[in-house]
Amino acid sequence: MAPGTLADDVLRGDVRAASRLMRRIDDAEPRATEELRALFPRTGRAYVIGITGPPGSGKSTIVDRLVAALRKEGKTVGVIAVDPTSSFTGGAILGDRIRMQGHATDSGVFIRSLATRGNLGGLSRATGDCIRVMDAMGRDVVLVETVGVGQDEIDVAQMAHTTVVVLVPGMGDDVQAIKAGILEVADIFAVNKADLDGADRVVRELRSMLEVRRAASGSPHGPARSHSLAGVRPAAAPDSQWEPPIIKLSAEKDEGVDKLLALIDSHREFLDRSGERKARERARAAMQFITLLRERLMRTALEKLEREKGRLDDVAGRIAERTADPYQLAEEIAGELGG
Ligand code: GDP
Repeated sequence: MAPGTLADDVLRGDVRAASRLMRRIDDAEPRATEELRALFPRTGRAYVIGITGPPGSGKSTIVDRLVAALRKEGKTVGVIAVDPTSSFTGGAILGDRIRMQGHATDSGVFIRSLATRGNLGGLSRATGDCIRVMDAMGRDVVLVETVGVGQDEIDVAQMAHTTVVVLVPGMGDDVQAIKAGILEVADIFAVNKADLDGADRVVRELRSMLEVRRAASGSPHGPARSHSLAGVRPAAAPDSQWEPPIIKLSAEKDEGVDKLLALIDSHREFLDRSGERKARERARAAMQFITLLRERLMRTALEKLEREKGRLDDVAGRIAERTADPYQLAEEIAGELGG
């Protein structure tokens, strides 16, 4: 198939072509690049929402409910379920599980799971590329569901315009243990399973953590947001700051999901109003470009190294024999290969 053919079909909204391309992306097939290049000019329209949180916190349930609410508004939706941690399912179960819940026959909903593992930002590259495929297909909203456990997931969360971090009661002291990075990327905190005991405690703990963070950053915002006297906003517009709201949900009972969607909407309005949306898109572009460049440079360097038969063997031998130190050798070889 000529390069770009798949891209043409994707642009026409062809779900099978999009699936095929996303599989190539997931498998890191180099020929996906040509198609992605062809799609690129037609991307940048979709609104991307990230849903991240620990396994079992109800992310899939929330996504399922959000999809239903968005469809009611007439929006077309793409869902990417990223689950590199489930080592034996390869992430497929996540996608299949939501797929089963009633959206399977709705052509306005396109759900795919991603299992990409590997290092060097492979996961975030693949996720970014799949977001672009769904964007180019013309999906209004793309939901990205990730397990919030490591740096990769934090990178993925940063691809969203709005990131929802999901917590649940019963985490106990674990709330303290949530990765600081995840706290930083949260635009909205959703305390799910509010039908269970302990949701208020999670809310309280989150509040005090946010207070501490606010005090530490010396930000004058927060409580000041409600102090705009008689509708006159103070000069240092609180509009330039977003304080992540905390919302209680019970996704299974479909309670609070409309409110969550309304909060996502106000965050989107905030991003547009404050110019933050452009800033985020630039930051995302920088991050994605660096990932791409790093992969590209690594590939060139490793190919060169492999072409020099025996070189790697020689290097390994010298290190193992302690006749050379690996730090020095890495410097030398990087200088040769990169230069
Ligand atoms: P994920 O692993 O984060 O995607 O979590 P799931 O959406 O698969 O949900 C994990 C379990 O929590 C499932 O058994 C859900 O039925 C259940 N669950 C989801 N939302 C709620 C809720 O609001 N209340 C209660 N009690 N259980 C929920």
